[in-house]
Amino acid sequence: MKTDVVIIGGGINGCSLAYQLSKKGIDVALFERKYICSGATGRCGAGIRQQWSTRENIILAKESVKIFSKLSRELKEDIGFRQGGYLVAIHDEKELKEAEERVKLQRSLGVDVKIIDKDEIKEIVPILDPDGMHAIGATFCPTDGHADPFKTTFAYARRAVENGAKIFTHREVSKIIVEKNKVKGVVADGERIDCNYVINSAGAWSRIVARMAGIDIPNRPLRKEAIVTEKMKRVFDAMVISFRDGIYFSQQSEGNILGGIPGPDEREGYLYQPTFSFLNHMARTLTRYAPVLKFVRVLRHWTGFYDVSPDARPIIGEDPNIKGFIHCHGFSGHGFMLSPMVTKIISDYISDGKDSDYLHSLSIERFKGKDISREVSVVG
Ligand SMILES: Cc1cc2nc3c(=O)[nH]c(=O)nc-3n(C[C@H](O)[C@H](O)[C@H](O)COP(=O)(O)OP(=O)(O)OC[C@H]3O[C@@H](n4cnc5c(N)ncnc54)[C@H](O)[C@@H]3O)c2cc1C
Repeated sequence: MKTDVVIIGGGINGCSLAYQLSKKGIDVALFERKYICSGATGRCGAGIRQQWSTRENIILAKESVKIFSKLSRELKEDIGFRQGGYLVAIHDEKELKEAEERVKLQRSLGVDVKIIDKDEIKEIVPILDPDGMHAIGATFCPTDGHADPFKTTFAYARRAVENGAKIFTHREVSKIIVEKNKVKGVVADGERIDCNYVINSAGAWSRIVARMAGIDIPNRPLRKEAIVTEKMKRVFDAMVISFRDGIYFSQQSEGNILGGIPGPDEREGYLYQPTFSFLNHMARTLTRYAPVLKFVRVLRHWTGFYDVSPDARPIIGEDPNIKGFIHCHGFSGHGFMLSPMVTKIISDYISDGKDSDYLHSLSIERFKGKDISREVSVVG
């Protein structure tokens, strides 16, 4: 088989890339070793927030929100996008000063965000107990939100196939063929596929995939756990998060509460086993934030993996040493919300050779330098 571009991974990023490239008339073959959404995408909170600490993430997220807001129309399927806002708890005076700095930067970049007091917290999410949260206030951005990760990813995949992309599930790429520092193809289940580009959008497995091309990347897989409760009457729209406690939770359109927190037994590596210590810690923290939830039962508890880069920012663009090898990973727990813009940048580069500042600032090359600006507004 022969194609222009091989995409490795059938998560939100792989499927969005397949859609965007095929829309431009480029021959694409996507290989997913399990099923679409079997990686982090199908296990995530799918929150979409513009409240970041680095200029880069703020702009990427803001531009992604613009794309999300038109995506149901473009993909001709409802992706479940809604803007209920993100409420970020502020716990003490030090955090308040940091929040003021972040809000200043975010507002200067056009994000509608403000600092709110304890009364306003209760107006936005009536079930919250600001004292139980140990909160003195919060930041709130009403245009942050959420989309359904399954609906979004499958909509991309279906439109990509209509555009002529080939999507192969249950087919694992086991080898990348590189000759004279240029990508020539891949091997998937014993079959050779010739191509000019290989995109590594293999999420938490991207380090293993990069190694197939002789490239060492600094990413590490980090086990994360999440829960979903039974349904209850819709009472709030916002995602509630705390950088200090690491908790995040929101109420889904169907009424279930979905959330996560870093567990006491969080480990690096590919461990799918959920832990009781997480469940305990999550339940205690969640009911401290929203005491009424102690009457709601947990329906399901699962694990997934963050693909963590050293500065918690994505790694994108063509490899400096292997022509045709494209990085699209390292999303460190925020790859759903950034996917629209990141995949647009990558597909514009492959189709038209279009450059972008992000292809430089988010390049794998940055880890050679000493001054890496780390994203600090991370939860979960
Ligand atoms: C509990 C949890 C909560 C999260 N919450 C949020 C959130 O609220 N907002 C947000 O933006 N992000 C969130 N994230 C992060 C987000 O889920 C990921 O950043 C994003 O889904 C990554 O998408 P992806 O397409 O890059 O990778 P993935 O969805 O992980 O897809 C990679 C795919 O590659 C496949 N693959 C691997 N190796 C091979 C191979 N050799 N051949 C073929 N296929 C291969 C895998 O099977 C997998 O399906 C969360 C993650 C977790 C785990």
